[in-house]
Amino acid sequence: MLKWSIHKYYLFAVLTLVAKMSYGQNFNHKVYAEVQKVESQEELLLEYERLGPKISGSPGLKNTFLWLLDYYKRIGVDYLRIDTFIYNDEAHYNLVAGYLGRNISRRIMVSAHYDTKGGPGVNDNGTGVTACMEIARLLRGRPIQTGIEFIHFSAEENNLIGSQHYVNNVLGRNDSSLVFLLNLDQLGGTKNNSENNKIYCERDEDSPLQNNNASNAITQKLAQCADLYSNLAPVISKAYNSDYMPFQQAFYVITGLYQYSEYPFYHSKNDLLLNIDIGVHKEVIKTAYAFLLLEADSISLSISNKNKVAMHIFPNPVKKEFTIDVPKEFGESKISLTNTLGQNVFKKEVRVGRNKIVFDHDTGLYFGSIKGSKGQMGIFKIQKVN
Ligand SMILES: [Zn+2]
Repeated sequence: MLKWSIHKYYLFAVLTLVAKMSYGQNFNHKVYAEVQKVESQEELLLEYERLGPKISGSPGLKNTFLWLLDYYKRIGVDYLRIDTFIYNDEAHYNLVAGYLGRNISRRIMVSAHYDTKGGPGVNDNGTGVTACMEIARLLRGRPIQTGIEFIHFSAEENNLIGSQHYVNNVLGRNDSSLVFLLNLDQLGGTKNNSENNKIYCERDEDSPLQNNNASNAITQKLAQCADLYSNLAPVISKAYNSDYMPFQQAFYVITGLYQYSEYPFYHSKNDLLLNIDIGVHKEVIKTAYAFLLLEADSISLSISNKNKVAMHIFPNPVKKEFTIDVPKEFGESKISLTNTLGQNVFKKEVRVGRNKIVFDHDTGLYFGSIKGSKGQMGIFKIQKVN
């Protein structure tokens, strides 16, 4: 018996290896090292739980929106947008928080609804929301080729009204800059369930059919990331009944993550932190983060950006002036700014400490670098507005 089970184990291991190799995506040590920075989300999930039920029209829903807005302001994303819509005579808000990529005409969207049904909704969907928050924190200051935009929809639990509104009124049908949408909904697993090691990677299997092949291709890549960078076993399944549906109906490419095990506290007052598998949640975040690092080309860029530190400038967006703090070790330094065409448009010498810099150029995105007296390099981005 023992012999046979060992034999079976080896057979399984060999088959798994063959399957991994046939995916065509190689293990990347830099991705692996980066996703080890993902932290367990107990604290933010507990804050989300304490905000109470987030049902349309409830104070919990409004307070959660403000909590999210404050978080993204604090970590310092490149831009924040609010999409307001009226439902049941009440104002509802979708929140967009994004990082600009080097290529400003490409972006990936990551969605997670923040409203709930029946209770505080820690699993559905505090887990998706805090996954975005953690990934946004880790992406701060990283170079990305393709922009990454987080969107927190309201009123998902009211027939996807928030995401439907966004697609119909903000995005439209022809936004070619949107590469694909990754939807995160219910990622926590179920405490003490033996099937938590599996994760659904969801692809578009509905009409219109034109976008289904691309959805399958990107979902296979997502599944590979689960395989390579987490301890989860991916299971390909059909996307349905969440915020990606209005996107796929408008011909966009979608993919998604959803827990595999049945959750007995679904839409109930017991959808609480103590009923989810917090360890599994962390593994799902690693999967999503690895996937986004690769799809946004962050890894290849960061290799060429070795030894460059991300500098904080404020305010950003910039109207006429910005402030930069030059670290002591940089000494007398030089700042230069490049536009999206790669043209150098600005040069200035700066000193250690706080420098106020007048920058009165055209609106748009600029890439900044600061070179220290001993060759140290700092980088930053500027969004110039009127
Ligand atoms: Zn949900």
